[in-house]
Amino acid sequence: MAGGVIPAACRVALPLPVSQPYWYRLPPGIADRVAPGARVVVPVRAREMIGIVTDLGDAPREDLKSVLLAPDPNPLLPPRLLDLAAWIGRYYVAPLGLCLRAMVPGPLWGESRLVARAADAGAVPGGASAEVFAALERLGGRAVATRLARAVGRPVWDTLQRLARVGAVHLETEAPSLGPAAGAERVVVLTRALPSLLERDRVFGRAARQRAAYEALDAAGGEATWNHLVRGLGFGPAIVRALVERDLAEVQERARLRDPFADTAVERPPALSAAQRDAVTALAPGPEGGVALLFGITGSGKTLVYLEAVRRAVEAGRGAIVLVPEIALTPQTVARVRGFFGPGVAVLHSALSDAERADAWRAIATGERRVVVGARSAVFAPLADLGCIVLDEEHDHSYKNGEAPRYHARRVALARARLEHAQVILASATPALETWAARDRLTVVALPERIGARPLPPVRLLDLREAARVPEARAVPWTVVLDDAVRGRLEAGEQVLLLLNRRGHAHFLQCTGCGLVWECGACSITLTVHRTPARLRCHYCGAERDIPATCAACGHDTQRSRGVGTQQLEQWLATRFPAARLARMDADTTGTKWSHARILDAVRRGEVDVLFGTQMIAKGLDFPNVTLVGVVDADTGLHLPDFRAAERTFQLIAQVAGRAGRGPRGGEVIVQTRAPAHPALAHTVRHDFEGFAARELAARHSPPYPPVVDLARVVLSTTSERAAADAAVAVADWLGGVIRARSLPVEVVGPAPAPLARIKGRWRWHLLLRSRDPRGLGALLRYASRRGPYGRGSAVRLIVDRDPVNLL
Ligand code: ADP
Ligand code: ZN
Repeated sequence: MAGGVIPAACRVALPLPVSQPYWYRLPPGIADRVAPGARVVVPVRAREMIGIVTDLGDAPREDLKSVLLAPDPNPLLPPRLLDLAAWIGRYYVAPLGLCLRAMVPGPLWGESRLVARAADAGAVPGGASAEVFAALERLGGRAVATRLARAVGRPVWDTLQRLARVGAVHLETEAPSLGPAAGAERVVVLTRALPSLLERDRVFGRAARQRAAYEALDAAGGEATWNHLVRGLGFGPAIVRALVERDLAEVQERARLRDPFADTAVERPPALSAAQRDAVTALAPGPEGGVALLFGITGSGKTLVYLEAVRRAVEAGRGAIVLVPEIALTPQTVARVRGFFGPGVAVLHSALSDAERADAWRAIATGERRVVVGARSAVFAPLADLGCIVLDEEHDHSYKNGEAPRYHARRVALARARLEHAQVILASATPALETWAARDRLTVVALPERIGARPLPPVRLLDLREAARVPEARAVPWTVVLDDAVRGRLEAGEQVLLLLNRRGHAHFLQCTGCGLVWECGACSITLTVHRTPARLRCHYCGAERDIPATCAACGHDTQRSRGVGTQQLEQWLATRFPAARLARMDADTTGTKWSHARILDAVRRGEVDVLFGTQMIAKGLDFPNVTLVGVVDADTGLHLPDFRAAERTFQLIAQVAGRAGRGPRGGEVIVQTRAPAHPALAHTVRHDFEGFAARELAARHSPPYPPVVDLARVVLSTTSERAAADAAVAVADWLGGVIRARSLPVEVVGPAPAPLARIKGRWRWHLLLRSRDPRGLGALLRYASRRGPYGRGSAVRLIVDRDPVNLL
C-alpha cells in the first residue's frame, strides 16, 4: 500500500439494489491482498456474499463486520472498469453494485461458500487453531466454514485465516449451486419432416395438441429442450411421447452447454478492395482514439474494414471489442472475426457454461485473448489495454439494456473509450439519428458502393389500398405481384425472405379509404384507441378526444387496425406453396436460443426456400442466393405510439431490403404498404438514408425529441390501475416542483398511461422528461432517486430510464 500504511477498512459494492457500498473491516493478513477492483467475501446478515472493493480507507465506525476472505491474488476488475461503473451509476442513476453486477459475469459473483480443506497438520500452531483444525479433521478434512463454526460453537474466520497463512489449511470459495449441475439435458428432436399442411392434416387428424407440439418444434428449428416444451410451452409429457411413438421425433441426451459456434465454418478473409483499403486508411485512430462512423451501404463490405482496424489495434499491442446486436442472429460475423484472428478470439455468448464464462473473463483480463466478440455486455470485457471498440449495426435497439442499469452499449463504449484513449467505430448503413446528428464531430468514412459494384436491389412499393390481391389469402395482405414474384423465385431455385414484423401492442384508428391515421397535435405520435371509456388518447401527454365517426381527410368511415401475424402467414404460405421448405423466425420460435442460429445455418446451406419472420431476419445476414425480399406489411411499426416509429420503420425496411441481391443473380425488393407516400417508405425506394435522415431530424425539432433534446422516461407501476395513475400524477407534481424551485431547464410531458398499459399484473403509467441540458436532467434524476416519492419498499415501483429506446 502507498506509504506502507495498511488501510483498516474497505468499501464493498454488493450486487444488490442498495444506494451505497458498505464498509467492512480488513483483518490483518487480508489487507495486503485487497485493492479497489478486488473481490472479497463478506458477511451479509446470515449469509456470505461476494462483493467488489471500491475504496480503501479508515474505518468510519467501530462496529464494522470483517471481510472474510480475499480470493483473488490480483484485482478482478481493472481500475478503469471501476471508473466506468461509477460513470454508469451516475449517468443512468443506478446503484453501483448493480452496475458492477452487469459488468462481471454471474459466476464470479453470487453467494459463495468458504470451504476449508486440511492440508498440513504439522503446520498447525497450538491453542484455538488446533481445536479448529481437529474439528475440521473430524468433518472429513473438508468443510464449509459455517459448518465448522457450528461444530466448534463460535466464529472461525480469524482462525481459518491464520491457519491458511501458515499453510495448515487451504481456503477456497465455492460458487453456490446455480440450478442443476452442468451435464446432460433432454432435447426433443424432430426426425421426420411434414412440410405440407396436407400431410400434417393426414398424420395428426384431430390430435391437435400433438400437431401443435410438432409445429412448435418445427418452428424452433427442429428441436427444443424437453423443459421448454413441457414447462415453457405447456405440452404434456404424454404429447411429446406420442410424437416419439409415431416416429416423428426422438429424445436425445445432450451435453447441456456446448459451444454453439464449435462447428461454424471459419471464413477466410478475401483481399481488400480499393474502396475498402481507402476506408481502412481513413479510419486510422488519433492519439486519443476518436470516434468514427463507418457509413457503408448494405453489402459494401464494412466487416472487413473494421476488422482491419481491429487488427491495427492488436498489432499495436492492444485489445479490441467487436459488438454485434444479438450473437445468435449474427453467426456469420462471428465466423468472420474468427477467420481473421483465429483462436485468439474470445466469443462471449449466452450458451457458455458458468465455468467457461469465468475462464473467458480471466483469459481476457490476463491478455491471453485480445479480441472479444459479443453482444451488448461484451462492452465490459476486462481487456487491460483497450485500443478499439466496434459496434456493428450501431443503430440496433438490442444495444440498450432492459433492466437496471439501463445502459446503452454505444453510450458506454464512448465513455469507456474516453477513459482508455481507445477508438470507437460505429458501423451501419442506417445509423441512429443520434449518431447521424453528431456526424460533424465524428470521422465519417463512407462506403457508397456494394462489393463487386453490384447494384442495390430495386425497391418497389405496392399500395395495399389499390393493388390486386390474391383473394384466398383473406386477411393476409398478399398481392398478386408479390405472389408471382415468390413463385418465380422458387421455380428458379432461389431463396426468398419475407418480413412481417407484427407487434400488436397498440390499436390505432386508420381510415380504410385514404389510410389517414390520427395523431396527437402536441406530440406528433399516433393516438391509441381506448375502449373504456371509448376515446382516442395520446400516450405521451395524456390528451384525449372522441373517436371520430368519419375520416377528417376524405369523409370515409374510419376503422380500427387489425393485424395479421407470422403464424397466419405461415399457414398461408404452406397452403400456397406446399412444396416450399419454410422456416419461421420470431420470438416464439425459441425452442432453445440457438434454434435461430440453426435456422440461419439451414438457410445458408440452401435447405430453406422461404425464410420469414419478424425483424430478426433483417440483422446483417449475408445470403447470396436470396434474390427476393418481400415486406408483407410495412406499416406494422409505423403507427406505434413512439416518436421513433418512422425511423425504425425506415431502418427495418432498408436493412431487410439490403439482404437482397448480394450474389451474382441480383435481386429485388417488394414492399406492401398502405402509406406509400410516408417518408419512411418513400425514401427506401431510392435507398436514400441521408434524405430520410434530414427530413426526420427536422421533424424532431417541433415537438422536440432526441437527438434535439435529451429524454428520460419515468415508469410507475403497481397492481391497481388507480394507484398507478395517482402515483404518476404525484411524481409529475413533485418533479414539477423541483424543476420550478431550481429553475431547471427540464420539461415534464405527461403523465399518461403507458402504451403497454399492463404487464404481469401491474398497471403502468409513465411520464417523459425532456431537456436541452443533459447535466441538469442528470442532476434532477439523481435527486429524484434519492429524495423522490416511491423509494424502495413502496408498493409502487418507479423506474427511471435515461435515453429510453422503448417507449411502450
Ligand atoms: P456489410 O456489412 O457492409 O453489409 P459485408 O461485410 O457483410 O457487408 O460484406 C458483404 C459481402 O461481400 C460478404 O459476403 C463479404 O464476404 C463480401 N466481401 C467483402 N469484402 C470483400 C472483398 N474485398 N472481396 C470479395 N468479397 C468481399
Ligand atoms: Zn400528446
